[in-house]
Amino acid sequence: MIYLDNAATTKPNQAVLDSFLKVSEKAYYNANSPHQMGLQSEKILLQAKSRVKEMLNLNKNADIIFTSGATESNNIALKGIALRKKQFANVIITSVLEHPSVLEVMRYLETQGFILKYVNVTPNGQIDINHLEQLMTDNVGLVTCMYVNNVMGQIQPIKEIGSLLKQYPKAHFHVDGVQALGKIPMQLENVNSVSFSGHKFNGLKGQGILIIDNKEKIEPTVFGGGQEYGIRSGTVNLAMNVSLVKAMEIAIQNLNELNHRLSRYNKVIRESLSQYKGVYINSPENSAPHILNIAFPGVKGEVLVNAFSKLDIMVSTTSACSSKREKLNEVLLAMDIEDNRIEGSVRLSMGETTTEKDIEQFKDKFKLIYAQIKELLK
Ligand code: PMP
Repeated sequence: MIYLDNAATTKPNQAVLDSFLKVSEKAYYNANSPHQMGLQSEKILLQAKSRVKEMLNLNKNADIIFTSGATESNNIALKGIALRKKQFANVIITSVLEHPSVLEVMRYLETQGFILKYVNVTPNGQIDINHLEQLMTDNVGLVTCMYVNNVMGQIQPIKEIGSLLKQYPKAHFHVDGVQALGKIPMQLENVNSVSFSGHKFNGLKGQGILIIDNKEKIEPTVFGGGQEYGIRSGTVNLAMNVSLVKAMEIAIQNLNELNHRLSRYNKVIRESLSQYKGVYINSPENSAPHILNIAFPGVKGEVLVNAFSKLDIMVSTTSACSSKREKLNEVLLAMDIEDNRIEGSVRLSMGETTTEKDIEQFKDKFKLIYAQIKELLK
């Protein structure tokens, strides 16, 4: 089986599983309990948080909140920050490129009286910085942008956006870093908060993290026992959190090697597919190396995913593949990609476990798929 759906989820690393098991066995105590074992668990939790700051070169005063995934991190951050700003800066800026765990929160906040503005997207799928500059006013309290797009792989100019926003002290800059960690070098200097999900970098599903320069900026939206500074109540899942940090450590250590290896595979696939008439690459050239979006105009995405799956190649569709334009993938639409190229698009996504052999086999099997669909291509 050739697994090319790593943007959806990745295989857990053995060291992460070992870490989860070890902490579950040896430190199953409640980190909020007042006894010795509880205090020891709390110490492990705090050490894990310090390690995150060290690894990501963050300010020592930054706050770390462990969650169940980036969906929860994005929800807690975006709702909580917006609420704190409502009285004096109620304008929020985002783009249509964002993941639903951001966009749906934005739509909710709009129903709660916030003014939502969408920044334009350039044809290569990047935030239009000039337009962002035009949208910026003193009333903007929150700007949110992903680092790497999960559908196409394009990288956003986070450093430039951060520099621009520095001139607007009321504007909080939140980044969804899910598809970036371990895949590309990140620059988080002018970012106020960032979300990650463990299972996207060989951790476990249900592991998430929210990092913020100052936890006081978040109005709690989850209530309960007051854990995680009262921002994310619920008994701390120490084994999950420690093993998430383990996954992060491995991903950061392997970043350069993985980035180079996947860039090489990416190039090989691009070159190989360029020989096939009627097949196009949707992802911009300078995208993150692990995501490659390909178009087969004239053939539906689902049909392609099934054809790949029958040959033991796991890929994803990126569009709802409906004939109605409003159902087409918004990311691809925003990049002005033609409708039939959107309908016939699939996403290949590589990861740590992808091998040279996988890529060679993909190339061979692709020939068979092309022979099946070539009459349909437009
Ligand atoms: N943001 C991006 C860019 C993603 O790709 C994902 C996962 N598809 C998420 C957020 C949400 O992560 P999770 O499902 O782990 O909560």
